[in-house]
Amino acid sequence: TDSDTADEAVRATCDDATICKRFATSKGYWKDPYIQYFVRSVGERKAPEINRGYYARVQGVNHLLDAFIRKAGCDCQVINLGAGLDTTFWRLKDKNLMPRKFFEIDFPTVVARKIHNIKTKLPLSKPLIETHSTDSLLLDAHSLDSDRYCIIGADLRDISSLDEKLKKFQLNPELPTLLLSECVLVYMTPSQSSNVVHWAAETFHTAMFINYEQVNMSDRFGQVMIENLQRRQCALAGVEACQSLDSQKERFLKTGWEHADALDMITVYSMLPQDDMERIESLEFLDERELLQQLLQHYSICWATKDKLNLGLSQLAY
Ligand code: SAM
Repeated sequence: TDSDTADEAVRATCDDATICKRFATSKGYWKDPYIQYFVRSVGERKAPEINRGYYARVQGVNHLLDAFIRKAGCDCQVINLGAGLDTTFWRLKDKNLMPRKFFEIDFPTVVARKIHNIKTKLPLSKPLIETHSTDSLLLDAHSLDSDRYCIIGADLRDISSLDEKLKKFQLNPELPTLLLSECVLVYMTPSQSSNVVHWAAETFHTAMFINYEQVNMSDRFGQVMIENLQRRQCALAGVEACQSLDSQKERFLKTGWEHADALDMITVYSMLPQDDMERIESLEFLDERELLQQLLQHYSICWATKDKLNLGLSQLAY
């Protein structure tokens, strides 16, 4: 059916993200020793503005994520929604910033591929085994559950089954919880993404939600971005929720979150550490500064908090 084709196109976007991240790391934008185990070859060259855009995305998200985990003193959970082939769990382990448990959700077929890679690549499986204390490690084709890391196949548009599966794998609603969605909500309708955000606000009393996705999509450049995805049958069903930074914040403030902030990626880029900026700007010559600005202006990070335990989550920023 059309909707199966559309879902298949959405699932394929996890390869795009990983291929682009792999290429940018091969150029030295940031280090990720694990990404090579999810995409074998470096692939074709990507334009410098794409690489810088991914750099800002990864550093921008990591900055808030790491700040949350430090605030909670690692006594927290992370739930990566639509995680794809993301390698954050291994990065946090190496940085000694592992939460009590790290959950990932994606469609079952994406999850099966990820688990296959983990099973067959020792550098991926070793940290899981090292952080697991009992003999009850669950590792079959469709789910993986260890003490500290859990991958679940689920459709984010079906909240009750999502909630049930997370509880089955020992999600603890009492722990400070960080939810992350990186280029995921935009593939759902505004009401489906609102349901996800609302479920999170209802489930956790102390939490932060980080959402990275397109913004300012009503201008000419935004229209071209939408058309490019449509050409691949990949509908941005949630694009209405991406009209402005205010609409990004509204989605959270309307659904029970206490505090929300949103910045476009031009602003985030300009706030990243200055010495690192000089380093990455010297990696590749950029002749179209204008194009980089356009690209960064069409992505945003929005973050929202609620903080019954008074950890000071509303102070987390750039
Ligand atoms: N967050 C990862 C990253 O940034 O590298 C992957 C991003 S990729 C663009 C979008 C991911 O969201 C895909 O892996 C896709 O399968 C997942 N996704 C989209 N809609 C979903 C849904 N309804 N349920 C579960 N996963 C979904």
